Amino acid sequence: MYDNNNIFAKILRNEIPCNKVYEDEHSLFFKDIKPQAKIHILGIPKSPCVDFADFINKTDKKAISSFFESLEKVIEMLNIKETGYRIISNSGENGGQEVPHFHFHILAGEKIGSLR
Ligand code: AMP
Repeated sequence: MYDNNNIFAKILRNEIPCNKVYEDEHSLFFKDIKPQAKIHILGIPKSPCVDFADFINKTDKKAISSFFESLEKVIEMLNIKETGYRIISNSGENGGQEVPHFHFHILAGEKIGSLR
């Protein structure tokens, strides 16, 4: 069940500011407030979905492909294709998800350590 009061929903409604990197019809990308790497960007679709599975199951195909194309566009904009990056999405309790609106983390700008 999607919580309309989660922090990313508030950012999408402009109730809370964010440090925006890129926005289009279907997605918003902004800087993580507690960066875990020199470059740490969050990418969220504008549709209300809790996690990856919810996004894929509930969102129309055009918006899904648009979100992934935007993710690639942001990676291009950040100029990190050559040096490398990590994209991850946490889901649920075991995945360590804190904010229940589906998002990707883009981590880059330095060597990203092991997953644990
Ligand atoms: P996750 O643990 O995958 O749900 O990640 C949630 C991320 O959201 C964390 O890296 C937080 O630092 C980040 N975060 C929480 N609140 C904000 C905010 N207001 N603006 C930007 N990033 C945020």
